[in-house]
Amino acid sequence: MSITKRRRVIAGNWKMFKTQAETRAFFSAFLPLVSGVRRCDIVIAPPFTAIVAATEAARGSKVGIGAQDVFWEKEGAFTGEIAPPMLVEAGCRYVIIGHSERRQFFGETEQAVAKKTKAALSAGLTPIVCVGELLEHREAGRTEEICETQFLGGPGALTPEEFSRILVAYEPVWAIGTGKTATPEIAATVHRFLRKCAEKKFSTEQARAMRILYGGSVKPDNIQGLMAQEELDGALVGGASLDAKSFASVVNGCESAQ
Ligand code: PEP
Repeated sequence: MSITKRRRVIAGNWKMFKTQAETRAFFSAFLPLVSGVRRCDIVIAPPFTAIVAATEAARGSKVGIGAQDVFWEKEGAFTGEIAPPMLVEAGCRYVIIGHSERRQFFGETEQAVAKKTKAALSAGLTPIVCVGELLEHREAGRTEEICETQFLGGPGALTPEEFSRILVAYEPVWAIGTGKTATPEIAATVHRFLRKCAEKKFSTEQARAMRILYGGSVKPDNIQGLMAQEELDGALVGGASLDAKSFASVVNGCESAQ
């Protein structure tokens, strides 16, 4: 399948790190370091409690703010949950959905991923929907089967119009927070496979337009190699997004690899 030019995105997932004060300090250091970036989008997803601080600190810049999860109802008796319109009001434009840590530690299912994605889209958010296999799946030769199941249950459950508004993140679980990055070739192979799944489910055109970020131990020293693969439309970055200098060098690495 030939590749059409897609705009790249570098998204930082802060997980359960950073207070509001730490968020403000991060943005003061980070924004000047990425002021020249033109060719890729930048997203930062802080914990819920730091979203407003991040929105205020990022105002006037090109950095979009995201959340790390969302619930599918608009309001109601759902203790501990956050609704899509609440995220929008707090200044979010993006939301990560179906991260492997939510699947592993909080029992998130494909059905929940699909419901959350639809609700986020209805509120005008851009979902970043994660898929990826465990090490045991890869070793058992089940990478494609697992990725296809997660793709069909999540993004594949959307209408074509909804599908055109999401970002997909391929995150092999064995590469998250472990320091083991998938080689650029391994990542590109799975991205190509996901594009085939999208082609079967939707259309060739939609498969070509789908933006797939790679996630798993992306760092300043491997971003250029990863971005040399045309199949990779950016990165979802955990650990290396917590430090302003290191996240800025990932972003600048993506920008210069275009
Ligand atoms: C992530 O949290 O989505 C992630 C890819 O983490 P890390 O970059 O630390 O592997």
